Amino acid sequence: MSIFTKIINGEIPSYKIAEDDTYFAFLDINPNAKGHTLVVPKREENKLFDLSKDEYLGLMDFSYRVAKAIEKTIPCKRVGMSVIGLEVPHVHVHLIPLNAMADIQFSKKEQLTNEEFVALAEGISGNFK
Ligand code: AMP
Repeated sequence: MSIFTKIINGEIPSYKIAEDDTYFAFLDINPNAKGHTLVVPKREENKLFDLSKDEYLGLMDFSYRVAKAIEKTIPCKRVGMSVIGLEVPHVHVHLIPLNAMADIQFSKKEQLTNEEFVALAEGISGNFK
């Protein structure tokens, strides 16, 4: 079972943004930038392009809605998107508020307090439609 499945099942905590029957969004615990969010299909699949076309398009649709909420909440030039998955073998879309190229390069990390994570999750979640 992946660490993200444990998060979805509530076995380990996360700063949840939104969920529906099929998808789940939460803050990345080691963010590139404030508001860095992960969107995952609840069904555990390793690689993005091993998803069915429907599940892939559904993931993109859910990510679009989460990105809109991030844009409303976090001052940034734009929201970037990336799918990597070399660390956690459970498909996840990275949505990252960008102000500079460095924000999408996974080298510069932000240290946030629990209170900051909670406030970010509440803010983004409150703007999710
Ligand atoms: P990658 O598989 O390379 O796309 O990276 C996995 C991402 O998951 C990294 O950005 C981690 O910071 C993030 N991550 C790993 N464990 C957790 C967790 N328990 N809660 C939130 N994010 C996590």
